[in-house]
Amino acid sequence: MLALQKVRPGSGVHFNTIAKPENIAAGEVLIYVHFAGICGTDLHIAHWTPGYESMESAMPVTLGHEFSGTIEQVGKNVPADVIGTRVTARPSTTCGHCEACLKDDEDNCTSRKGVGIGRNGAFTSYVCVPYSNCHTLPDSLDMDIAALTEPMTVCAEAVATTEVAAGQTILVIGPGFIGQGIAILARSRGAKVVIMGRDDGPRLKNLAAAGFQHLIDTSDVDMETALSKFAPFDAIIEAAGVPTLVAATLPFLKKRGIFTVVGIHPRPAEIDLTTLVRMHQQIRGSYRAPAADWDGVIAFLDGHQDLMRQLISHTLPLTDALIGFQAAHDHVASKVILRMGEI
Ligand SMILES: [Zn+2]
Ligand SMILES: [Zn+2]
Repeated sequence: MLALQKVRPGSGVHFNTIAKPENIAAGEVLIYVHFAGICGTDLHIAHWTPGYESMESAMPVTLGHEFSGTIEQVGKNVPADVIGTRVTARPSTTCGHCEACLKDDEDNCTSRKGVGIGRNGAFTSYVCVPYSNCHTLPDSLDMDIAALTEPMTVCAEAVATTEVAAGQTILVIGPGFIGQGIAILARSRGAKVVIMGRDDGPRLKNLAAAGFQHLIDTSDVDMETALSKFAPFDAIIEAAGVPTLVAATLPFLKKRGIFTVVGIHPRPAEIDLTTLVRMHQQIRGSYRAPAADWDGVIAFLDGHQDLMRQLISHTLPLTDALIGFQAAHDHVASKVILRMGEI
């Protein structure tokens, strides 16, 4: 089967032909992949930005960690009647025997492996994952939308971390898919949402189509003038990964406001901490969502399929994956979904 892989450190990804997995490990299932999304993480892996060195021991490794599919085979200790179940899966797999795992504390496992990062992922026809990582999809949820579950859990976690509430005015920095998902979930909580990007015409247009009115492209307008119209913000959520934007936007956050960082930053940010102290502001980080939140996100997707489909800018066959990587890299795409097989 065709697979898009990382075969060696350094820039680039490669198509390889690999064997369909035969022996399914105990506790695991073999999933026939329908759709898998390209994520910012995949771009970082392709460009080999620092922070992914631990992948080397897994190479060649198939990428792809945001996916939907159907269970086709089961390993030992998994009931055979789950065959045929439509699922998505949490990509973070745990070791099962460290101190945290023995306490059922998945998030703190010390030797986690990411599907599509530290073990084979879903940019191919079949992927194996632990059955305990799977979440059943409602019949009404289309498989392309279901492939958005993992990134939307990241968005849900960011909105929860920021304690977004009805009536607040929230600034979202970075209109990529994560920023877009955050904007949608913050709006669904009743917040007024302002979204800021730079050279982000296509992505901001997507957001306009999704009903957002307060859109700022700082390649067209002066950032400070544009933000002043809405400031002070009750909270700011940063999903751009541009370190200088932290200091540049903090002055627009209200006293005791929350600034949540979701972006992955290539360099440290310089911040005026004395002003932060006097303004009694908080900076929080937000990353992976707990397993318990996944079914709620799946229900949200099921109830908002038309809206969510507007965020899928490209649906491409796996063979066109590199076109998708380029579109994502060029900020033309909101979300690129790769189609794996016949459905
Ligand atoms: Zn991702
Ligand atoms: Zn563990």
